[in-house]
Amino acid sequence: MARRAARRTESGNFIAGHWLPARSGSSFESLSPARPAKVVGAFPRSGREDVDAAVSAAGKAFRAWREIPAPQRGAKLREVAALLRERKEALARLMALEMGKPLVEARGDVQEAIDCAEYYSGEGRRLFGQTTTSELPDKFAMTVRCPVGVCGIVSPWNFPVAIPAWKIFPAILCGNTVVFKPAEDSPACGEGFVRALHDAGVPAGVVNLVQGLGEEAGAALVHHPDVRLISFTGSCETGSLIAGACGQGLKRCSLEMGGKNAQIVMDDADLNLALEGALWGAFGTSGQRCTATSRLIVHKKVREAFVRRLVTQARKLRIGDPLDSMNHLGPLVNAAQLARVERYVAIGREEGARLRCGGKRPSAKALAQGHYFEPTVFDAVKPSMRIAQEEIFGPVTAVLEIRSLEEAIETLNGTSYGLSSSIYTRDVNKAFRAIRDLEAGITYVNGPTIGAEVHLPFGGVKQTGNGHREAGETALEIFTEWKSVYVDYSGRLQKAQIDVQA
Ligand code: NAD
Repeated sequence: MARRAARRTESGNFIAGHWLPARSGSSFESLSPARPAKVVGAFPRSGREDVDAAVSAAGKAFRAWREIPAPQRGAKLREVAALLRERKEALARLMALEMGKPLVEARGDVQEAIDCAEYYSGEGRRLFGQTTTSELPDKFAMTVRCPVGVCGIVSPWNFPVAIPAWKIFPAILCGNTVVFKPAEDSPACGEGFVRALHDAGVPAGVVNLVQGLGEEAGAALVHHPDVRLISFTGSCETGSLIAGACGQGLKRCSLEMGGKNAQIVMDDADLNLALEGALWGAFGTSGQRCTATSRLIVHKKVREAFVRRLVTQARKLRIGDPLDSMNHLGPLVNAAQLARVERYVAIGREEGARLRCGGKRPSAKALAQGHYFEPTVFDAVKPSMRIAQEEIFGPVTAVLEIRSLEEAIETLNGTSYGLSSSIYTRDVNKAFRAIRDLEAGITYVNGPTIGAEVHLPFGGVKQTGNGHREAGETALEIFTEWKSVYVDYSGRLQKAQIDVQA
């Protein structure tokens, strides 16, 4: 984590429309993972007092914001989309510098936020409820969506613009106000995102930004009694802590957490397509995607040919400065993440898996300063091995051999996670069986495990989530409460279940 003590605060928290330092005056630095000596910026190391101020600002703004008609709130999001489009390149460059994602992927990250703003701006003219019949005469019944209140948004660094957008856009469209705590490895991206919202005209207090560390600012936000809802994306360890705190505080809580996603390659698959998918799924963002392909479940008949070609292609991937568009893999986000990946490679070897390529930092001198790691393929992996069970979050993929569709499905389902899954096959029957039986929130057929679109539900089963789905219409279930409304125009007292009995 980028946590060196800094001399001065250059950037601020954004509270009630003002840029402010931490009340304590302390700050932390964000460092570029490609060149950790390069300081991207210094940001407030916020504590409880800062969170209190931000929650209070969000609470005050909520009273007016909830009464603005939803189509007008949606119109604001259209302006946000336009401004993000103008700033797309600048934000993408900042992202590549700050968290190491290659520029082309960073542009995609910002594009996802633009798509999301456009999608939810339209939702302002829907936000549909239901009308239904009453069991009593001269009585009208309907449901309406109501905002929840002040929402705490806690996000990770790997999609530092897209993930806040997935959460904050539906939240404010529904009439809520927000206190946003970005990850400590991507505070500059968090700030750039909030600046765009402010500059596009989102009123003061509707979106507040509190920078800082998870166990300080993040924990203060999660425990704050006036925060009605926490929307969190990050690791299972943190998610479990947050779920406990929200349970105690009786807060609404939506969690999106880790994955151990797999791509199945059947013996009838188009191997070229499956290979392209595996390379993109396993090594895109250096494997630091929640939907990364960290397992390849390959039919015995094609496994050796597939692995041989995978290794050849993986070796050709260019590693280097994420700001250079020629490079396919940037660095891992920080030294701790690099050490974690190295540890898992050692574990894989000890467990008896066969290292087919990578497994080390690149030898080029020019890359020695950055947190780079080579694309790594383990073969002969058994389902019980730790590298087949635990989220590594690096450019490491594990190949497991299977002999049938049934074995492939059982292997894919055999972890505690359930985010994304994929099957490559030309057999429509096999594809539909996989769609039915794979335990995952997302299944791709003849596509890699990554590539979610903003208008479909996003999230996972088992320990990946707690039953919610972000994006699309389903995000409205997180950010609104239902109210049932009965209007009696009979002019007399009518008693449900008593006046009318079957
Ligand atoms: P993390 O859990 O370390 O941190 C996520 C956020 O939680 C950060 O903002 C951090 O400051 C905050 N935090 C940490 N401790 C906290 C505490 N005690 N109280 C409140 N907040 C706290 O995760 P990370 O390393 O930033 O992200 C990587 C993880 O995120 C991976 O496990 C990945 O799979 C997951 N992820 C999941 C999805 C998804 O949609 N399922 C998407 C992206 C990333």
